[in-house]
Amino acid sequence: MFYNKLKREITLWKLRGNAYYCPICEKGFKTFLPGGPKRRPFALCPNCHSLERHRYLWLILQQLWGEGKISNTGKMLHFAPEQCLSKKFKKKFDYISADLDPDFAMVSMDITDIEFSDDTFDAIVCNHVLEHISNDRKAIAELYRVMKKGGWGSLQVPMRGETTYEDDRISSPDARERAFGQSDHVRLYGSDFYQRLQHAGFTTFIYKKGDFVTEEENIKLSLAIENELVIVRKK
Ligand SMILES: [Zn+2]
Repeated sequence: MFYNKLKREITLWKLRGNAYYCPICEKGFKTFLPGGPKRRPFALCPNCHSLERHRYLWLILQQLWGEGKISNTGKMLHFAPEQCLSKKFKKKFDYISADLDPDFAMVSMDITDIEFSDDTFDAIVCNHVLEHISNDRKAIAELYRVMKKGGWGSLQVPMRGETTYEDDRISSPDARERAFGQSDHVRLYGSDFYQRLQHAGFTTFIYKKGDFVTEEENIKLSLAIENELVIVRKK
């Protein structure tokens, strides 16, 4: 335990620098590390283990909080919690995390049958979950139901092209990997994902990376993978 901690401290010390900066743990590094299932270069913060999409979301949330456009207090539900963000959210919100697997969160929960009353949460964060869920429309309807009026949510999914590709007959891990890009994904969303969110009642706000950061900042913060991001609201 002590040895692992020491090894980690030495690695971090060796990687300290100014070429890269993580806005989540607020530390600078000589480089980011390869990350994600396909070991993307410069993806992973060596300290808090954030990936590109976590840093990008964090920047946008900070901006929206700063402008008073969405609340940064109240009750938050965080599905499949990313540890790097979880630590930050806990400081601001009355926070509860949930996952189907109780080892990964504070409570075990099926996202298609959420055990909370209507209009409970001021904020819901549920990133990279819906592409794993067969009945995603039910899950989105549940997220809408438990969100308070005026609340906001971050429901990020991997997207490519315009039209969602899904087919129930594609069920083996190998076939899913080929069709949807990952062995445990059940579809590959297109930008018509936003219509699924709207159909459940959400208002969608799309943020383009270029509106928030310069190309130079984009490289320094390594946000490279995502080009746009959706924040949902319940009116
Ligand atoms: Zn970090």
